[in-house]
Amino acid sequence: MPPTPTTVPCQYRTGKTLGSGTYAIVKEAVHIKTGKYYACKVINKKLMEGREFMVRNEIAVLKKISSGHPNIVTLHDYFETANNLYLCFDLCTGGELFDRICAKGNYHEPDAADLVRTILKAVKYIHDSGIVHRDLKPENLLFRTPAEEADIMIADFGLSRVMDEERFHLLTEICGTPGYMAPEIFKKTGHGKPVDIWAMGVITYFLLAGYTPFDRETQQQEMEAIIAGDYKFEPEEYWVNVSETAKQFVRECLTTDPIKRPTAGGILKHPWLAKPHFVPDPAS
Ligand code: ADP
Ligand code: MG
Repeated sequence: MPPTPTTVPCQYRTGKTLGSGTYAIVKEAVHIKTGKYYACKVINKKLMEGREFMVRNEIAVLKKISSGHPNIVTLHDYFETANNLYLCFDLCTGGELFDRICAKGNYHEPDAADLVRTILKAVKYIHDSGIVHRDLKPENLLFRTPAEEADIMIADFGLSRVMDEERFHLLTEICGTPGYMAPEIFKKTGHGKPVDIWAMGVITYFLLAGYTPFDRETQQQEMEAIIAGDYKFEPEEYWVNVSETAKQFVRECLTTDPIKRPTAGGILKHPWLAKPHFVPDPAS
Protein backbone atom coordinates (compact mmCIF):
# COMPACT_ATOMS: atom_id res chain seq x y z
CA MET A 1 0.00 0.00 0.00
CA PRO A 2 1.39 3.45 -0.81
CA PRO A 3 2.43 5.36 2.29
CA THR A 4 0.33 8.33 3.29
CA PRO A 5 2.27 11.43 4.29
CA THR A 6 1.68 12.15 7.95
CA THR A 7 4.12 14.84 9.03
CA VAL A 8 3.61 18.52 8.44
CA PRO A 9 6.44 20.80 7.35
CA CYS A 10 6.21 23.10 10.35
CA GLN A 11 7.98 20.43 12.42
CA TYR A 12 11.15 21.66 10.74
CA ARG A 13 12.66 25.09 10.32
CA THR A 14 14.54 25.45 7.09
CA GLY A 15 17.78 27.37 6.82
CA LYS A 16 20.39 28.04 4.20
CA THR A 17 20.38 26.45 0.77
CA LEU A 18 22.94 23.63 0.53
CA GLY A 19 22.71 23.03 -3.15
CA SER A 20 20.46 22.58 -6.10
CA GLY A 21 20.41 19.97 -8.79
CA THR A 22 18.39 18.72 -11.68
CA TYR A 23 14.95 18.96 -10.11
CA ALA A 24 15.29 20.00 -6.52
CA ILE A 25 16.58 22.54 -4.05
CA VAL A 26 18.24 21.18 -0.92
CA LYS A 27 18.07 23.22 2.28
CA GLU A 28 19.47 22.76 5.74
CA ALA A 29 16.60 22.02 8.13
CA VAL A 30 16.40 21.67 11.88
CA HIS A 31 13.83 19.40 13.50
CA ILE A 32 12.29 21.77 16.03
CA LYS A 33 11.50 19.17 18.72
CA THR A 34 14.88 17.41 18.74
CA GLY A 35 17.19 20.18 17.48
CA LYS A 36 18.66 17.70 14.99
CA TYR A 37 19.89 18.94 11.63
CA TYR A 38 18.96 17.40 8.29
CA ALA A 39 19.27 18.11 4.60
CA CYS A 40 15.79 18.73 3.25
CA LYS A 41 15.24 18.15 -0.45
CA VAL A 42 12.36 20.20 -1.83
CA ILE A 43 10.86 18.89 -5.06
CA ASN A 44 8.26 20.91 -6.91
CA LYS A 45 5.24 18.68 -7.56
CA LYS A 46 4.74 20.23 -10.99
CA LEU A 47 7.78 18.24 -12.12
CA MET A 48 6.06 14.94 -11.39
CA GLU A 49 2.55 15.64 -12.57
CA GLY A 50 0.61 12.44 -13.00
CA ARG A 51 3.37 10.37 -11.39
CA GLU A 52 2.82 11.30 -7.73
CA PHE A 53 1.76 7.76 -6.91
CA MET A 54 4.94 6.30 -8.41
CA VAL A 55 7.09 8.86 -6.64
CA ARG A 56 5.53 8.03 -3.26
CA ASN A 57 6.07 4.33 -3.81
CA GLU A 58 9.67 4.92 -4.74
CA ILE A 59 10.20 7.03 -1.62
CA ALA A 60 8.96 4.16 0.54
CA VAL A 61 11.55 1.89 -1.11
CA LEU A 62 14.27 4.49 -0.60
CA LYS A 63 13.43 4.91 3.03
CA LYS A 64 13.70 1.17 3.55
CA ILE A 65 16.99 0.57 1.79
CA SER A 66 18.78 3.84 2.57
CA SER A 67 19.24 3.04 6.25
CA GLY A 68 20.94 -0.24 5.40
CA HIS A 69 24.32 1.00 4.23
CA PRO A 70 26.83 3.35 5.90
CA ASN A 71 27.79 5.08 2.64
CA ILE A 72 24.29 5.98 1.49
CA VAL A 73 22.49 9.06 2.83
CA THR A 74 19.59 7.85 4.95
CA LEU A 75 16.14 9.19 4.20
CA HIS A 76 14.64 9.93 7.62
CA ASP A 77 11.34 11.60 6.86
CA TYR A 78 9.13 12.90 4.10
CA PHE A 79 6.03 15.03 3.83
CA GLU A 80 4.08 17.04 1.32
CA THR A 81 2.40 20.39 0.93
CA ALA A 82 0.13 21.44 -1.92
CA ASN A 83 3.09 22.43 -4.10
CA ASN A 84 6.13 20.57 -2.83
CA LEU A 85 7.48 17.26 -1.67
CA TYR A 86 10.00 17.37 1.19
CA LEU A 87 12.57 14.64 1.84
CA CYS A 88 14.77 14.80 4.94
CA PHE A 89 18.16 13.14 4.65
CA ASP A 90 21.29 12.84 6.78
CA LEU A 91 23.10 16.15 6.61
CA CYS A 92 26.49 15.87 4.95
CA THR A 93 28.64 18.84 5.91
CA GLY A 94 31.79 17.96 3.98
CA GLY A 95 30.68 19.14 0.55
CA GLU A 96 30.64 17.44 -2.83
CA LEU A 97 33.38 15.21 -4.20
CA PHE A 98 33.29 17.52 -7.22
CA ASP A 99 34.60 20.43 -5.16
CA ARG A 100 37.32 18.33 -3.53
CA ILE A 101 38.60 17.16 -6.91
CA CYS A 102 38.60 20.74 -8.17
CA ALA A 103 40.45 21.93 -5.06
CA LYS A 104 43.08 19.18 -5.25
CA GLY A 105 43.50 19.10 -9.03
CA ASN A 106 43.45 15.32 -8.88
CA TYR A 107 43.68 12.44 -6.42
CA HIS A 108 46.69 10.22 -5.71
CA GLU A 109 46.04 6.74 -6.98
CA PRO A 110 45.74 4.93 -3.62
CA ASP A 111 43.30 7.60 -2.36
CA ALA A 112 41.29 7.41 -5.59
CA ALA A 113 41.19 3.60 -5.32
CA ASP A 114 39.96 3.81 -1.70
CA LEU A 115 37.14 6.17 -2.70
CA VAL A 116 36.17 4.15 -5.77
CA ARG A 117 36.14 0.89 -3.76
CA THR A 118 33.89 2.42 -1.10
CA ILE A 119 31.50 3.93 -3.65
CA LEU A 120 31.34 0.70 -5.66
CA LYS A 121 30.50 -1.36 -2.57
CA ALA A 122 27.58 1.00 -1.93
CA VAL A 123 26.58 0.79 -5.61
CA LYS A 124 26.61 -3.01 -5.33
CA TYR A 125 24.32 -2.73 -2.31
CA ILE A 126 21.94 -0.46 -4.25
CA HIS A 127 21.99 -2.84 -7.24
CA ASP A 128 21.43 -5.88 -5.01
CA SER A 129 18.38 -4.04 -3.65
CA GLY A 130 17.02 -3.81 -7.20
CA ILE A 131 17.68 -0.09 -7.69
CA VAL A 132 19.74 1.71 -10.32
CA HIS A 133 21.19 5.07 -9.30
CA ARG A 134 21.33 6.51 -12.84
CA ASP A 135 22.89 9.79 -11.84
CA LEU A 136 26.24 8.92 -10.28
CA LYS A 137 28.59 11.89 -10.57
CA PRO A 138 30.84 13.84 -8.20
CA GLU A 139 28.04 16.34 -7.47
CA ASN A 140 25.99 13.49 -5.99
CA LEU A 141 28.81 12.06 -3.86
CA LEU A 142 29.04 13.93 -0.58
CA PHE A 143 31.39 13.86 2.40
CA ARG A 144 29.78 13.27 5.76
CA THR A 145 32.03 15.83 7.52
CA PRO A 146 34.62 18.40 6.43
CA ALA A 147 37.47 16.10 7.62
CA GLU A 148 39.95 14.97 4.96
CA GLU A 149 39.28 11.29 5.73
CA ALA A 150 35.48 11.71 6.07
CA ASP A 151 33.16 8.96 4.82
CA ILE A 152 31.90 9.42 1.29
CA MET A 153 28.14 9.11 0.86
CA ILE A 154 25.98 8.41 -2.17
CA ALA A 155 23.11 10.90 -2.47
CA ASP A 156 20.36 11.58 -4.98
CA PHE A 157 19.25 8.15 -6.09
CA GLY A 158 16.13 6.19 -6.74
CA LEU A 159 13.76 8.91 -7.86
CA SER A 160 15.32 9.23 -11.29
CA ARG A 161 13.40 6.21 -12.54
CA VAL A 162 10.09 7.96 -12.08
CA MET A 163 11.32 11.44 -12.90
CA ASP A 164 13.21 10.24 -15.93
CA GLU A 165 11.34 11.78 -18.84
CA GLU A 166 11.51 15.16 -17.24
CA ARG A 167 15.10 14.70 -16.22
CA PHE A 168 16.29 13.68 -19.66
CA HIS A 169 14.60 16.75 -21.06
CA LEU A 170 16.17 18.98 -18.43
CA LEU A 171 19.59 17.43 -18.83
CA THR A 172 19.76 17.81 -22.54
CA GLU A 173 17.93 21.11 -22.86
CA ILE A 174 19.09 23.13 -19.90
CA CYS A 175 21.58 21.53 -17.59
CA GLY A 176 24.50 21.14 -19.94
CA THR A 177 26.85 18.24 -19.51
CA PRO A 178 25.69 14.72 -20.17
CA GLY A 179 29.27 13.72 -19.32
CA TYR A 180 28.50 10.78 -17.03
CA MET A 181 25.71 9.23 -19.09
CA ALA A 182 26.31 5.82 -20.70
CA PRO A 183 26.07 5.24 -24.47
CA GLU A 184 22.93 3.11 -24.15
CA ILE A 185 21.05 6.06 -22.61
CA PHE A 186 21.53 8.11 -25.80
CA LYS A 187 20.86 5.12 -28.00
CA LYS A 188 17.69 4.51 -25.94
CA THR A 189 18.58 0.82 -25.81
CA GLY A 190 18.58 0.46 -22.04
CA HIS A 191 19.33 2.14 -18.77
CA GLY A 192 19.79 -0.62 -16.24
CA LYS A 193 22.50 -1.26 -13.68
CA PRO A 194 25.37 -1.04 -16.23
CA VAL A 195 24.83 2.75 -16.54
CA ASP A 196 26.14 3.11 -12.97
CA ILE A 197 29.33 1.19 -13.79
CA TRP A 198 29.93 3.43 -16.81
CA ALA A 199 29.52 6.48 -14.56
CA MET A 200 32.05 4.97 -12.13
CA GLY A 201 34.51 4.79 -15.04
CA VAL A 202 34.01 8.48 -15.81
CA ILE A 203 34.31 9.36 -12.10
CA THR A 204 37.53 7.34 -11.74
CA TYR A 205 39.01 9.04 -14.81
CA PHE A 206 38.05 12.43 -13.33
CA LEU A 207 39.60 11.52 -9.94
CA LEU A 208 42.89 10.51 -11.56
CA ALA A 209 43.23 13.29 -14.13
CA GLY A 210 41.19 16.22 -12.79
CA TYR A 211 39.11 16.45 -15.98
CA THR A 212 36.49 14.23 -17.59
CA PRO A 213 37.04 11.95 -20.60
CA PHE A 214 34.30 13.10 -22.97
CA ASP A 215 34.54 16.89 -22.70
CA ARG A 216 33.88 18.32 -26.13
CA GLU A 217 33.01 21.73 -27.53
CA THR A 218 29.35 20.94 -28.09
CA GLN A 219 26.86 18.61 -26.47
CA GLN A 220 26.33 16.85 -29.79
CA GLN A 221 30.07 16.08 -30.06
CA GLU A 222 30.14 14.95 -26.45
CA MET A 223 27.27 12.56 -27.07
CA GLU A 224 28.91 11.17 -30.20
CA ALA A 225 32.18 10.64 -28.31
CA ILE A 226 30.33 8.76 -25.56
CA ILE A 227 28.49 6.52 -28.03
CA ALA A 228 31.77 5.74 -29.81
CA GLY A 229 33.66 5.30 -26.52
CA ASP A 230 36.09 7.86 -27.92
CA TYR A 231 38.42 8.99 -25.13
CA LYS A 232 42.17 8.86 -24.47
CA PHE A 233 44.48 8.94 -21.47
CA GLU A 234 45.85 12.25 -22.69
CA PRO A 235 47.42 14.80 -22.44
CA GLU A 236 50.33 12.58 -21.42
CA GLU A 237 51.51 14.89 -18.62
CA TYR A 238 48.36 14.13 -16.59
CA TRP A 239 48.78 10.37 -16.94
CA VAL A 240 52.53 9.65 -16.60
CA ASN A 241 52.22 8.79 -12.92
CA VAL A 242 49.09 6.71 -13.32
CA SER A 243 49.49 2.92 -13.41
CA GLU A 244 48.45 0.70 -16.31
CA THR A 245 46.22 -1.18 -13.82
CA ALA A 246 44.26 2.01 -13.11
CA LYS A 247 43.81 2.68 -16.83
CA GLN A 248 42.70 -0.93 -17.31
CA PHE A 249 40.11 -0.44 -14.57
CA VAL A 250 38.75 2.69 -16.31
CA ARG A 251 38.71 0.88 -19.69
CA GLU A 252 36.64 -1.97 -18.25
CA CYS A 253 34.08 0.41 -16.73
CA LEU A 254 33.92 2.32 -20.02
CA THR A 255 33.02 -0.76 -22.09
CA THR A 256 30.53 0.69 -24.58
CA ASP A 257 28.42 -2.48 -24.78
CA PRO A 258 26.43 -2.64 -21.52
CA ILE A 259 26.17 -6.42 -21.79
CA LYS A 260 29.95 -6.79 -21.81
CA ARG A 261 30.50 -4.17 -19.08
CA PRO A 262 31.37 -5.72 -15.69
CA THR A 263 28.87 -5.74 -12.84
CA ALA A 264 29.55 -3.97 -9.51
CA GLY A 265 30.46 -7.30 -7.92
CA GLY A 266 32.72 -8.20 -10.86
CA ILE A 267 34.61 -4.91 -11.06
CA LEU A 268 35.13 -4.89 -7.27
CA LYS A 269 37.47 -7.84 -7.84
CA HIS A 270 39.68 -5.81 -10.20
CA PRO A 271 43.37 -5.77 -9.09
CA TRP A 272 43.35 -1.95 -8.98
CA LEU A 273 40.95 -2.16 -6.02
CA ALA A 274 42.93 -4.86 -4.21
CA LYS A 275 44.42 -3.98 -0.84
CA PRO A 276 47.20 -3.07 -0.16
CA HIS A 277 47.02 -0.77 -3.09
CA PHE A 278 49.06 -1.70 -6.16
CA VAL A 279 52.05 0.67 -6.40
CA PRO A 280 52.91 1.60 -9.97
CA ASP A 281 56.44 1.21 -11.28
CA PRO A 282 57.37 4.78 -12.26
CA ALA A 283 59.94 3.62 -14.82
CA SER A 284 57.59 1.48 -16.91
P1 ADP B 1 18.98 16.84 -7.57
O1 ADP B 1 18.16 15.63 -7.71
O2 ADP B 1 18.22 18.07 -7.88
O3 ADP B 1 20.30 16.75 -8.29
P2 ADP B 1 20.44 16.35 -5.10
O4 ADP B 1 19.84 15.36 -4.16
O5 ADP B 1 21.60 15.89 -5.91
O6 ADP B 1 19.27 16.96 -6.02
O7 ADP B 1 20.89 17.63 -4.28
C1 ADP B 1 21.41 18.76 -4.93
C2 ADP B 1 22.65 19.25 -4.18
O8 ADP B 1 22.31 19.56 -2.83
C3 ADP B 1 23.76 18.21 -4.09
O9 ADP B 1 24.59 18.21 -5.23
C4 ADP B 1 24.49 18.66 -2.82
O10 ADP B 1 25.36 19.74 -3.08
C5 ADP B 1 23.35 19.17 -1.94
N1 ADP B 1 22.90 18.08 -1.07
C6 ADP B 1 22.06 17.07 -1.41
N2 ADP B 1 21.87 16.21 -0.39
C7 ADP B 1 22.59 16.67 0.63
C8 ADP B 1 22.83 16.20 1.98
N3 ADP B 1 22.26 15.09 2.44
N4 ADP B 1 23.66 16.94 2.77
C9 ADP B 1 24.24 18.06 2.28
N5 ADP B 1 24.08 18.55 1.04
C10 ADP B 1 23.25 17.87 0.21
MG1 MG C 1 22.00 15.67 -7.85
